[in-house]
Amino acid sequence: DFKSKNILITGGAGFIGSHVVRKFVNDYPDAQIYNLDALTYAGNLENLKGIDQKENYTFLKADINNAEEINKLFKKFEFDAVIHLAAESHVDRSISDPLAFAKTNIIGTLNLLEAAKNQWKNKLEGKLFYHISTDEVYGSLGNDGLFTEKTSYDPNSPYSASKASSDHFVRAYGETYNLPYVISNCSNNYGPNQFPEKLIPLFINNVINKKNLPVYGDGNYTRDWLYVIDHAAAIQLIFQKGKLGETYNIGGFNEWKNIDLVKLLCQQMDEKLGREKGESEQLITFVKDRPGHDLRYAIDASKINNELGWKPSVTFEEGLSKTIDWYLENKEWMKNVTSGAYQQYYEKQYK
Ligand code: NAD
Repeated sequence: DFKSKNILITGGAGFIGSHVVRKFVNDYPDAQIYNLDALTYAGNLENLKGIDQKENYTFLKADINNAEEINKLFKKFEFDAVIHLAAESHVDRSISDPLAFAKTNIIGTLNLLEAAKNQWKNKLEGKLFYHISTDEVYGSLGNDGLFTEKTSYDPNSPYSASKASSDHFVRAYGETYNLPYVISNCSNNYGPNQFPEKLIPLFINNVINKKNLPVYGDGNYTRDWLYVIDHAAAIQLIFQKGKLGETYNIGGFNEWKNIDLVKLLCQQMDEKLGREKGESEQLITFVKDRPGHDLRYAIDASKINNELGWKPSVTFEEGLSKTIDWYLENKEWMKNVTSGAYQQYYEKQYK
């Protein structure tokens, strides 16, 4: 039970990490929650508004690529558990800069594993290294079938290859050094605080500004989508009750073809913005496909459902509607993250 211990969460200024940090700070007043983040373009302390003043919360600006600094922090704060989310997370960026992904996602993870192993060497009992990963490690599915925890790894992008590698290292530390660990692999997340390079916030922002909606290929790519708050709840459950040395798949039981998702988003936004029916759909443009693009991902989340009793709390329609409302209510957040470097990224990506 970690409710009164020192918990390190990496990547807590990012999209998913910020929701996890918020939940843990609120739910575990007797624990100390340390949020370690390098604040790359994807990290944003605004995501932690409201909890950053709480006594059980500490922010540590540090880079997981810096082994020495990471070791020092483990010694100083005596973390009992790690929930590791810090990563380079965007597939398109991994295509143009694969080395950055190998560095942070593989070496950065190894640095944390080493620090935990060294710090915990005399007493592994009551310690936990929880590694957060993606369903993209399983590669691509045809028109049917689902990824289970037993599906073999078959990553296709530099991003998924780097995440697959980090998953293997975590398992290897468990087998080789008895490091207590658990891993979860989740499908695509959406919700508040997501950086607008990812599909849903990108399209919400573009609809607001009446800019084109660039859909890859023919729009038939299929993904499973999960509301980020439901992912954070699953992470908390696995953290508390997951079996050591196990992997859990997390998914929304919610598959959408990209083109159908975009149409639903347009419909909801037309209603919310008081625009004419069908107006936003006219912004859809089909753009050249991403290389190595996986046709379909779909998760079988029955293990976490059966063993830990987890299931998503909202339908996709509800989650998407809440998400759009959040972006409409937080225009300042969007303005701050889309100024400066984002503009150059956007022009290069969708020129
Ligand atoms: P994100 O890009 O929004 O956030 C990543 C965070 O990590 C940022 O705050 C960034 O500053 C930090 N970071 C990056 N490099 C760092 C470094 N070298 N040292 C310290 N901090 C660093 O990512 P996200 O979407 O919130 O994803 C979080 C985790 O969940 C990742 O491991 C990702 O692979 C995994 N995941 C994401 C999804 C998804 O749909 N977004 C789905 C499944 C799994």
